[in-house]
Formats: sequence, structure tokens, C-alpha cells
Amino acid sequence: MLDFSSRDIQYLSGVGPQRAALFNSELDIYTLKDLLYFFPYKYVDRSRIYLIRELTGTMPYIQLRGRIIGFEKAGEGRKQRLIAHFSDGTGVVDLVWFKGVKYIASRYKLNEEYLVFGKPALFNGRINLAHPDIDPVSTQLLKTLGLQPFYSTTEKMKRSYLNSAAIQKIMANLVSQLSKDLPETLPTSLLQEHHLMPLHQALRVIHFPEGHEELRRAEYRLKFEELFYIQLSILKYATERQEKYKGFIFKKIGAVFNGFYSRNLPFELTNAQKRVVKEIRADLGSGRQMNRLLQGDVGSGKTLVALLTMLIAVDNKYQSCLMAPTEILANQHYETIRSFLEGINVRVELLTGSVKKSEREPILEGLLHGEVDILIGTHAVIEDVVEFKSLGLIIIDEQHRFGVAQRARLWKKNETNPPHVLVMTATPIPRTLAMTLYGDLEVSVIDELPPGRKPIETIHFFENRKRSLYELLHRELQRGRQVYMVFPLIEESEKIDLKNLETGYEQACMDFPTYTIAKVHGKMKPAEKDAEMDRFVKGEAQIMVATTVIEVGVNVPNASVMVIHNAERFGLSQLHQLRGRVGRGAEQSYCILVSSYKLSEETRRRLAIMVETNDGFEIAEADLKLRGPGDLEGTQQSGVAFDLKIASITKDGQLLQYVRDIASKIILEDPQLVKNKNRVLLKQLDNQKKGKINWGVIS
Ligand code: ADP
Ligand code: MG
Repeated sequence: MLDFSSRDIQYLSGVGPQRAALFNSELDIYTLKDLLYFFPYKYVDRSRIYLIRELTGTMPYIQLRGRIIGFEKAGEGRKQRLIAHFSDGTGVVDLVWFKGVKYIASRYKLNEEYLVFGKPALFNGRINLAHPDIDPVSTQLLKTLGLQPFYSTTEKMKRSYLNSAAIQKIMANLVSQLSKDLPETLPTSLLQEHHLMPLHQALRVIHFPEGHEELRRAEYRLKFEELFYIQLSILKYATERQEKYKGFIFKKIGAVFNGFYSRNLPFELTNAQKRVVKEIRADLGSGRQMNRLLQGDVGSGKTLVALLTMLIAVDNKYQSCLMAPTEILANQHYETIRSFLEGINVRVELLTGSVKKSEREPILEGLLHGEVDILIGTHAVIEDVVEFKSLGLIIIDEQHRFGVAQRARLWKKNETNPPHVLVMTATPIPRTLAMTLYGDLEVSVIDELPPGRKPIETIHFFENRKRSLYELLHRELQRGRQVYMVFPLIEESEKIDLKNLETGYEQACMDFPTYTIAKVHGKMKPAEKDAEMDRFVKGEAQIMVATTVIEVGVNVPNASVMVIHNAERFGLSQLHQLRGRVGRGAEQSYCILVSSYKLSEETRRRLAIMVETNDGFEIAEADLKLRGPGDLEGTQQSGVAFDLKIASITKDGQLLQYVRDIASKIILEDPQLVKNKNRVLLKQLDNQKKGKINWGVIS
């Protein structure tokens, strides 16, 4: 039997070296197996044959059965085209070709019965089908008519005539070689218990289903397998890691923690904060290395939880490192934590790119000799020159801005044992997604805001109501508050966006001539950006005009209004993150969404959700439903080490939970997967490892 996983596609009939090269470079398909797992993105029902008299110019793809009653050439030179008049007895349509005229004319015959598949269009009062698919009618063909698969291709492939139809032909050839001996990738027990279609059948059906029910079963089997193996490998990896690394044990809650808690803490912890600190304490005392994701909406008080955790480390004679994605944030953390710790004997240092060399030396010395207890910084802390005496805890704030590789480097800062890790994020990740992305992380949630916060009032204005907007802004500015004005930034059209921002800036200068206005956008150098931001933080500028670069973490409690222009161009999570920049002080805050009048139904819904709720999790769930996980902010950077071929995190959340429970039972019973019945599982995991997935880098 053919070994699908090693056999090069170029030897498949219909492929050859040239097409193989396209498959390689355009779709990352090399072997027969790669090709088999290249699933259709949609199916068109070809069980129905239309009559020509039913046709209109606005139909999707349809098929007709009839004969060519005459050919005609029209146009000259490059505009030449071939027209075949096609009839089924109820009318006549034109089949039109602009390319390959000679070849087509010789290929199809008059008065043969053909099945024609194409999209009807109206041209000069006649219906035509351009470049249709044509097959001679045979009983064999009519028998196989069902759901026709469509494959995505690229422009480059289409130019070489490697379009969906061509792939379909190649695929038909490949699928015909599938036999019952194709090694099954799931254990028989699972197949039986969960009524799953065998692999060879599922692969055949997914490409060439005869009906919807059969297709549904094939999809289910393949989704099951895909999600199951992701969960199995995450859980196996997590179990192994726990075995391998005996985490430091932070036994003591000592004088530093208690002193801070009883004397310096200016307010009562919220219940959610208390619960999370308890969860963290349990981890730190367990003898296992902690890997915890702390999710908490903007303003929920994650910094304080981070500080308490670091104080536990101090009490146990370990150093901590708190890493933030920008200098401004690192500075803010430094200031906040210093003032929290006033009068307490804990040495805190700040290390960022702009710390001078002369100031750097004593900090590095102090770290090496264990005199610095808490280091706060940016990427600068990852550099190799930064060495700790006994790093016991790493906290990463707003983690989605950190790459996977950067996190991995921090791990290595303690050679004997990896430190405990706490990752904090304000991007609420829905449970199903968190399970897939961070399946080996424990998750804690702060689902409560500190008391006394006034919920931010969110208002949606259409552009033509600028007057009422300005009245509100003037009122707030007069009260001494500060205002953010955000303009969208979309990579592909940076120029247009900058223009938007510049126009917005000039407009703001005209509208608010007596106020100072700062400006920040992505094209500025980091130092310039920081300087502008700083003017706003210090209150020297009252209005900040910016693109979304201000989105993460910045805390200016005096800013009470967030105006988001072209709000229709932002995703829900992004809008929520932006809104979180205000409402940090005691004053009533506002988030103003300004949009054009013409909105799609989806956008209308999105803005309505923003107006309705301040709850980040509700918003994240809605976002996932509206847009799908691919667009969820941060997932790109957070190191998703796999891409799903068939399952969908949005739609298959239930199945994900289901297979996770199955995988978890298996791992609990046989963590190494050495039992005979689990041999298939281990083999399959090994095969995947040889592929692209590297779980080791997901922390
Ligand atoms: P985030 O979770 O967005 O990082 P912060 O840690 O910046 O939130 O906290 C936001 C503000 O709330 C800070 O000014 C902080 O001092 C304050 N805060 C944190 N916890 C409490 C609490 N339990 N009670 C009152 N205020 C709190
Ligand atoms: Mg924060």
C-alpha cells in the first residue's frame, strides 16, 4: 500500500513537478497526506439540474444538461472569444471562453450530451456562462452527482490553471487510492464508544460526500480527532512538565507580606483578588512549578495581585521580575509599587532601554548578589547580561504583546529550576479559546472591580451629531479632565490612516484652541512616542490624539473621556480595551463611539453590545461569535502553535470540552501512554511532533 505520509505529490497523476512546486510554495502541501488533509472550504449541491428557462442573471453556480447546437467565434485578436450555443429544449444559453479558444473548439462536439456547470450572467440581454465546467453525461457521472467540493487556491495557482476544479480532479484520483488498510489514527475503543466514522471513509467522504448527513458524520470524526489530539498533547506535556520540574516551594508568609498587608495596603482587597491570591499561594506552596494565567478586566487590580505574589517570593528569599510591554507601563508599575512599598525594606529596581549605563551597573550587581528583590522592566530584562542570584518568580503583564520566544528566554534565567510564572492579561479570553491556547496553564479570573467605580457611560454618536459631542468634551475639559481621541489604524492603508489622524489632529486644534494637544502614532520613534505620552500622563497636554498604540495598560486617572472615531472599524475587544483607558478615577467617565451613518448589521450589533455592557467577558464571547477566533486580538502574538484545519473554536466549543474530558481521563490513567491500547495515540503524537507543533514553546 502507498505510504501517504511520505509519498511526494509530484508522482500523483495529474500533478507532476511544476504543479507540485506550486502546491509546495502556495499551500505548503508536499505529501499525499498533506493533500488528503487539504479539505474543501465549501460544497455546492450538484444533485439538482436546472432548466434553461428557469435561469436568471443573478443565480449562484448551477448546472444544466443539454447539447451544443453551434459554435461561433467573435471579436478579433486579444478580444477573440468562442461562443457555444447550448440548448436543453427549454431555451438556449451561451457558453463563452476568452482563453484556450482553439483547444475548446476541438474538445467539445456538437450534439453530444453534456453536463454544464457555471454561473449564469446577463450580457446584452442574453444569458451566458463564462468558462463553465463541462463533462459528457454518463450514467456513472449522474450517479456521483452530489455535493461538489470547492478548494481554495491562490492567484498564482489559478494562473497556472491549478484551480478548484483541477484540484478536484487530482483529489478524485488520490481518494480512489485510499483503501481500508489506511492506518487508523484513533484507537478502536474510541471509534466504537463515540460512534466515529473510520478514517479512510471520513477522508473519502470529506472530499466527495454523497449527501449532507454523510458529510456531517465525516466532519464530526475529523474535528473530533483534531481537537482530541491537541488536548491530548497539551495535557501530556503539562503532566510531564510537572513531573520534571519540582517548583520552588514558597512556604512562608512572612514579615514582608504581613507588614505590607496590615500597614501599607490602602484598601481592602476585593473578594476576587483574595480568591486569586489564595489560588496563587496554593500553587507556590505545592512543590510544582506554577504556570498561571491571570485574567482580569481593565482596572480590576491585577498589579496589586502581582505585588502580593512578589512579596511572598521576597519572604522566601527569592527574587522576582515583573515585565511590561512598554517603557511607560514599566515606569508606571515602578512608581506604583515603590509608593505601595513605602517604609518597607524591599529593594525595587527599574530596568528599561533608557536606563543609562552608569545606572545600570549597580542594578546588575545588585541582581547578581541577590540584593535587588524586585526587578521591573521591559524587554531589557531578557538580555543575557541580566543575571539573577535566585530568580523565583516571573510576572508578565499584558502578555499578548510578548512573543513566545521572549517568554522562553526568561525561563532560562534560573538554571537549576524554572521560576514560577504568572501571566497577566486584560484581554479576556473565552474559556474554549483559553483551553486551546493555554491548555497547560491554570487560569485565575478577577471578575470583580474594586468598589466605588462608576461604570463608564458609553454613547454612540453618528458623525453628523458632532455638536453634542463637542459640548460634552468642552464641559469635561473645563472641569479639568483629560480626553483621548482615537483614530483607527489598519496596516494595509497606513497612509490613509495617518491622514485621518492628521486631519483629526488639526480639527482638534481648531475646535479646542485653548488646550494643549499631544499626538501619538505608530510611525513615531519609541522615544518620541514616550515623550508625547508623558506630556499627557503629566497633565501638560489635555487632549491626546492617537492611533491604537495607546491601547495597552496606560493609567491616567484624570482622563475621563475616550472618543473613538470610525468606531465601526474596530473589533469589539479592541473597543473594550480602549474604553478601559478611562474610568480609572473617581469621576464619571465616558466612552464615545463615533461612526458613520451607514453600518452593516454586524457593526450595528457590535456597537450596541458596547453600549449595553461593560463586562469584558461578555464582550469577548460576543466577539468570538461575531468574528471568529482568528481575529481575536492577541492570539496571533500569543503563540498559537497550530492551525485548525477543520474544527472551529467558535462553533465547536462543546466538542472541545467533550474531547478534553476524554483526553484527560486517558492521561490520568496512563500518563506516558505506554499501555497497549494507547499505542496508536503515542504514535500519532510523535507523528505530529515531527510536523509543526512544538508544545515546548508554549508557556
Ligand atoms: P489592571 O487590572 O487594569 O492592571 P490596576 O492594577 O492598574 O488594574 O488597578 C487599577 C486601580 O485600582 C489602581 O489605581 C489600583 O490602585 C486600584 N485598586 C486595585 N485594587 C483595589 C481594591 N481592592 N480596592 C480599591 N482600589 C483598588
Ligand atoms: Mg495593568
